Amino acid sequence: MVLATRNAHKVVELREILAELVVGTGIDLDVAVVGIADVSAAPDVVESGVTFAENSLLKARAACAATGLPALADDSGLAVDVLGGSPGVFSARWSGGGGDAANVALLLAQLADVPDGHRAAAFVCAASLVTPLGDEVVEHGHLAGTLEREPRGTHGFGYDPILRVDATRTLAELNPAEKNAISHRGQALRALAPHVLALLTGA
Ligand code: IMP
Repeated sequence: MVLATRNAHKVVELREILAELVVGTGIDLDVAVVGIADVSAAPDVVESGVTFAENSLLKARAACAATGLPALADDSGLAVDVLGGSPGVFSARWSGGGGDAANVALLLAQLADVPDGHRAAAFVCAASLVTPLGDEVVEHGHLAGTLEREPRGTHGFGYDPILRVDATRTLAELNPAEKNAISHRGQALRALAPHVLALLTGA
């Protein structure tokens, strides 16, 4: 099956999640999980949806159509309570294309006057499975936290340095294994994994 991403880390993560799922079941999962760039000229998908689910479906459908393989895609972002869920699907482009540091700086400036008790936010992820027969499944994952006033930590990417997810640490202060265990993306892919398994094993 194909994962509609150019991010090799996401491909590894999905392989690991599928492997975890079959441990102890006796299922011999003889399947190659590949990234879109490995199997086809990756289609350029315009993320024109207004929800994570719509955008992940757009990417999965395009990958399925381009390869003829069952396809998985994810779409994610940061939803801030006092902003009514923004930046949301615009997370990557919030500063108009300035990149991670500019996105974080703009968001912190926008929230400068918001008091500590009202700084709740969450990372949200939708993961989609689309098959050549037209079956479509979407699952969500959600990681809630509190927005800090200054970035902290060196791991991860995007808004990780400003979302505190436990008593003291931002997501950028967790190591990758700790982040994957609780992340919105990990949750969504784990929720989707049984559907993937059912598809692959014909169960
Ligand atoms: P994508 O789903 O990989 O396209 O991510 C969309 C955007 O949401 C990223 O560019 C980040 O700004 C933000 N985002 C999504 N997931 C994460 C995460 O795990 N940590 C930090 N930022 C994230």
